[in-house]
Amino acid sequence: MDSVTNLRFDVAVVGAGPAGMAAALATADSGHTVGLIDDNPAAGGQIWRAAYNSARPAASSIWFDRLNKSAVQVVRGARVFHAAEGELAAESDDSVIQISYGKLILTTGARELFLPFPGWTLPNVMGAGGLQALVKSGLDISGKRVVIAGTGPLLLAVAACASKCGAKVVGICEQTTGAQMARFGLRMMLVPGKAAEAVRFACDLRGIPHWTDCWPIAAFGNRRVETVRISRQGQTSEIECDYLACGFHLIPNVELPRMCGCRLRENFVPVDEYQQTSVPGIYCAGEPTGIGGLELALVEGEIAGYAAANWEDRAKHLFARRARHQKVVRILRDAFPLRPELKNLARPDTLVCRCEDVPHQRLCEHGSWRAAKLHARCGMGPCQGRVCAPAAEFLFGWRIDSVRPPLFPVRCSSLAAIPSHSAPRN
Ligand SMILES: Cc1cc2nc3c(=O)[nH]c(=O)nc-3n(C[C@H](O)[C@H](O)[C@H](O)COP(=O)(O)OP(=O)(O)OC[C@H]3O[C@@H](n4cnc5c(N)ncnc54)[C@H](O)[C@@H]3O)c2cc1C
Repeated sequence: MDSVTNLRFDVAVVGAGPAGMAAALATADSGHTVGLIDDNPAAGGQIWRAAYNSARPAASSIWFDRLNKSAVQVVRGARVFHAAEGELAAESDDSVIQISYGKLILTTGARELFLPFPGWTLPNVMGAGGLQALVKSGLDISGKRVVIAGTGPLLLAVAACASKCGAKVVGICEQTTGAQMARFGLRMMLVPGKAAEAVRFACDLRGIPHWTDCWPIAAFGNRRVETVRISRQGQTSEIECDYLACGFHLIPNVELPRMCGCRLRENFVPVDEYQQTSVPGIYCAGEPTGIGGLELALVEGEIAGYAAANWEDRAKHLFARRARHQKVVRILRDAFPLRPELKNLARPDTLVCRCEDVPHQRLCEHGSWRAAKLHARCGMGPCQGRVCAPAAEFLFGWRIDSVRPPLFPVRCSSLAAIPSHSAPRN
């Protein structure tokens, strides 16, 4: 039987990425007890994932130093799978953690959108951010040929990272148009700090082909991917590779906000000027409120942290900075809309739900996500629809608006540890 740990915080923060770290530190300054809970072995989130090895990015050091010196209790390796009023339940490798809180800040970040195409389930075809995470965790890709495909600025970050680690990046296939990409570059130059970032990227990516109007059609190989067929400005060609890293921009992790009863708008969590959600005492910051990058995540986190500590004056001082970085949300949304051709990549036998082996043709028989779940078991596997549900939303235009506890598959003993009165608000 797992042990049960009980924790109580004035303010609980779920997600220890940049937004969560900033939120926790802002609240802790006020003397409130703060718990920062994350399912990874260390704080840092997606962008500062390398923080627990030697490759910590310099810009993050100040945040890690502050966190180490603060009174924030970091609860590592604990995944929150249940939420009820004033309570959370998280599972770690060997225990269940029951957390009660006065106020809650949700900083659960984002994940990549994957779209199915023939061959996307072959070994060594993976998410772009997924490849980056593996490399940051020690995967040796030196000398390997890598094709990076999909859409959004993450492709550039992954290409730069792979190239620095010795991979031969054969090309970046960006589905958006050349005109949209150029406009994106110009608009980003006007956002504080982004011009320097653009120059850094330009240096890191020198010599790497960057094709616009370009996307993967199929991947081939025997035991792993060997070739990817791409469409590039209307022409089809094949490229040999050892890895195909593929991601179609980011989607917010809104399952926990939804379980907490927070209202959603177009799959994001709307918040007031103090980052408070539709549920009083529950705040949200970072990617779930809009995909806007590191600086926005940090400033939103700080505002949420100060607001949760009743330090409205301090929060107000940050409104202008937030407004400047909020521009990025609009710039990204305008630059990387998914083109309709991507809806036609999957063949009838292409798996859409890879947990439950549900091919595209089985989904075509249904008219809604609910029907597809009930009749084809789509989204019923271990990832709980995190991969296939957003893909199905794009492919079929289905609305996906429910969440079922537990948020992640957990041990029976973890479920048994939830008090019987503790029902989700949703
Ligand atoms: C795969 C990936 C790679 C990226 N790489 C880059 C990059 O190289 N450069 C760049 O500029 N931007 C990158 N980004 C974007 C970057 O993450 C954002 O710009 C920003 O830093 C987001 O910060 P955040 O705090 O909102 O979220 P995140 O950094 O995503 O942090 C959220 C944290 O919450 C945790 N979490 C979520 N749900 C739970 C739960 N139920 N229980 C416990 N913990 C939970 C997550 O594991 C994560 O650690 C990447 C995004 C993704 C998805």
